[in-house]
Formats: sequence, C-alpha cells, structure tokens
Amino acid sequence: MYLERLQAALPEVRSQIERACERSGRSDAGSIELVGVTKGHPVEALRAASEVGLAVIGESRVQEAADKLELAGDLGLSWHLVGHLQRNKVKMALKLFSLIHSVDSVRLAQAVAKESTKLNRRSPVLVQVNASGEESKSGFEVEEGLAAVREVGELEGVRVVGLMSMAPHSSDEGLLRSVFRRTRELYERCSDELEKFEPRYLSMGMTNDYEIAIEEGSNLVRLGTALFGGREP
Ligand SMILES: *Cc1c(COP(=O)(O)O)cnc(C)c1O
Repeated sequence: MYLERLQAALPEVRSQIERACERSGRSDAGSIELVGVTKGHPVEALRAASEVGLAVIGESRVQEAADKLELAGDLGLSWHLVGHLQRNKVKMALKLFSLIHSVDSVRLAQAVAKESTKLNRRSPVLVQVNASGEESKSGFEVEEGLAAVREVGELEGVRVVGLMSMAPHSSDEGLLRSVFRRTRELYERCSDELEKFEPRYLSMGMTNDYEIAIEEGSNLVRLGTALFGGREP
C-alpha cells in the first residue's frame, strides 16, 4: 500500500518542487532536499521510501525512530530528527540521526555538544526559529536568533549548518510568506555575520506550505502527508 502511494505521490511532489522553483526564478530544483517524514507511519513506509529511492527520513520522536530502526534493519536510509528533543534523549538521538533540525534552546545545544565531544564528533545541527511567534511552537524568536546561533556555533562538538522553522497551519498565504521570509533573512544575516555558521540547509516547508517555502528560499522540505498520506495524531 505504501509503495503504491509513494510511487504515485513522489513524482507529483517532485514536479511541484520544480514548478515552485520556476515560479520564483530558481534554477536549482535538483538541490532541494526532500525529507520524507514517517512519524505516525509503520515500518512499511520506510521500506517503501527505501525502494523508491527516498533516501532521507524524518522522525519526530527519538523512541519511535529507535523502535522502527530496530524493526526495519538497515535500509540504507539517513535519518533526521525534526521534532523536539529532550535533553535526556540526546545520547540516543546522536546514535540514530545524522542531522538534528530542532535545536531550540542553548541548554539543548550544550547537551548535544557535550555528548558529541564524548564521541569525538562535531554533530551538524540546525537551529530552530519560531518565526511565527506562536506560543505553542518551540525555537528562538527571530530577534534573538543571531545571538543564539552565535552562541550555539561557539560550542565545541556542534556545527550549525542552517536553520529550521515551521509556519502556522494556515491558509493565509501572506502570513506563511512572512514567516518564511523572516527566517530566510535571519539565515542570510547569520551567513554574512557569523564565522562559525556553515550555511547549508534552510529547512522550511511541510505538506501544507512547501511550495511557498521554496518560493521564499527553502532548500529542504519536510513532507509527511503529501508522501505517506494521513497518520494517527
Ligand atoms: C510532522 C512534521 C512534518 C511533516 O508534516 P506534514 O504536514 O505531514 O507534511 C514536518 N516537519 C515537522 C517538524 C513535523 O513535526
């Protein structure tokens, strides 16, 4: 079931990505990273992803990812953590994920840095920005973003390779654009002003809003529903 769904959905998503690039005068559709978010879906979704060549998987919870990885075995996928990370799960997260999108506090960054140093690693992370200012969302306010990225970037054990943000669930296109634009502006400021910032990923865009996110400069979209269908909440 997942395989058929993905075989139909993936070309559709890829063509939407290309069209969004064209609309905004971008010629780099091939450089937009697509992360398939499998949270709430069973291991079959991962097998299907592997089969169609969707190489990067996003999960929101460390334990769910660990359980699935154990069931699925090595499918040759890379795993990204896109959801909130608790400090007591950092050690486990570093074993599972090649990129953490959700560094949303300095204390969490310090915990990631400390565990990474023990492993002799400098772990790539994204700093999460709460560009919509919603109370329910984690991440640094845009106004404090530059200082936060500077502070996180100074830690031994981590490399800040970009920013992540989530827009509100809304059909107000102007609102979505402004959230993405504020995040992109911060990304550019970090790139210009911070020596320790390594701009690689601007992670913005989910099923509801990825075309707009791409038009506003995203180079990594995180898609669950568009690829795998609805999920248990
Ligand atoms: C669930 C989730 C997604 C995927 O959401 P869809 O709307 O199903 O595409 C992307 N990013 C994060 C951080 C998520 O938690």
